[in-house]
Amino acid sequence: MAPLRKTKIVATVGPASFDREVLRGMIRAGMDVARLNTSHGTLDWHREGVRLVREAAKMEGRPVAVLLDLAGPKIRTGETAGGRALELATGATVRVTAEPVAGTEERFTIGYERLTEDVVPGERILLDDGRVELRVVARDGADLVCEVVAGGQLGPRRGVHFPETVLAAPALTDRDREALPMAVAECVDYVALSFVQGAEDIAATRAAIAALGGDIPVVAKIERKRAVANLDAIVAEADGVMVARGDLGVELPPEEVPVWQRRIIAAAGREMVPVITATQMLESMVDAPRPTRAEASDVAHAAWEFSDAVMLSEETAVGKYPVESVAMMDRILRQAEAVMGRAPEAGGDGEEDDHSLVIALAARRIVESDRNMRGIACFTRSGYSALLLSKVHPEAPIFGVTHAEAVYRRLALARGVVPVMSRAVLTTDELLRALDEALLAGGYVEEGDEVVVVAGLPVRAQGTTNFLKLHRVGDAATFQW
Ligand code: PEP
Repeated sequence: MAPLRKTKIVATVGPASFDREVLRGMIRAGMDVARLNTSHGTLDWHREGVRLVREAAKMEGRPVAVLLDLAGPKIRTGETAGGRALELATGATVRVTAEPVAGTEERFTIGYERLTEDVVPGERILLDDGRVELRVVARDGADLVCEVVAGGQLGPRRGVHFPETVLAAPALTDRDREALPMAVAECVDYVALSFVQGAEDIAATRAAIAALGGDIPVVAKIERKRAVANLDAIVAEADGVMVARGDLGVELPPEEVPVWQRRIIAAAGREMVPVITATQMLESMVDAPRPTRAEASDVAHAAWEFSDAVMLSEETAVGKYPVESVAMMDRILRQAEAVMGRAPEAGGDGEEDDHSLVIALAARRIVESDRNMRGIACFTRSGYSALLLSKVHPEAPIFGVTHAEAVYRRLALARGVVPVMSRAVLTTDELLRALDEALLAGGYVEEGDEVVVVAGLPVRAQGTTNFLKLHRVGDAATFQW
């Protein structure tokens, strides 16, 4: 069997890939998670997108998770007089207001209701991905009076960032709330929240999902300066994190982005949640069939830093080469992983008192010390044990065996985990038999191969890993407790 790729690929679905056959091609090329971005398109379009991904995954017989990325409070400038680009000169004075006006060089709209309440003199306002920079000098009625620190052209409806401001508006907007019933009804596998400021944003999203009767893991997009300041609390609350380098690179100077990428990945490692490194990974492939050398290197480094997944945005949403972009990412990751070497151990000091983690570490040591071991077979009801094993970074594959279809799909995001569907079992006796059947049917092992089996017992319990067995595939047929 060819070595399995450990780092997963998230690809954004957009007009370039909104087609079952293109999606099938992307799945064959290696897409593990399909991202639908509510910043663009209608709710009906996204519902249709989820269904297309499900159909394509079923036809390919592959686990593909769907991640619904909620737009959050993306703030934009308003319309300009005649739709023209404004010429903002460095050193000039300009007024900004939440009132809808036809913008001019003297006064234009920023579409944030609480503009004059939340933004205080001395703070910066960044426009159009930071190309234009203002500093607030004073409040004056419905306006903020600003100095243009870095001038330039400003078209209508450009993105706005307030790197120093605490925004009272929650990350989960009314529009995001409207998307949640669809997410729950369509059994979306992950919800990502944009412009998170603190842990309470994640808790509010989880509560809104629970109120609808759903239980969907929430991924925190780290893209605000406030989010990096509250990083540990956010990661402790979230079920996953995304290094959203696009917006993060507007709020922070570019030289700080790789530093925070490393810190965010490390924080996810400590909290044992999946982490996605995102944005501009193969951006030149929007128009070209091959990436730049720097992009290839960026993807490889994200894998070497132990990202669970790397993400394609415009490359697959609006690019000319959606399938080729996924295939290219797959090739870069496989080459990078082939020279990766042994990962440092999670926990590390040998004094862990968390029994689940100790079992996961023991499983890793056993597969690494015995070349005959094919991998770690983890029977998991909630996904917990497989996620934990993923975070101790064994070199051998982790077979995440589950009877729950939602868990099967969710595990598609976890580094090193091969999701495997099995029949449901009620007793420990049946567990090993079902595991053998599932691994043999998938072609992952042969009769007589050895694996380390890890599980949480009794089989109906969840959220603890308390069982480890060295197992020869096929022995289960005659196994008696
Ligand atoms: C980002 O800013 O890097 C990001 C992933 O968010 P979006 O694509 O929603 O702007």
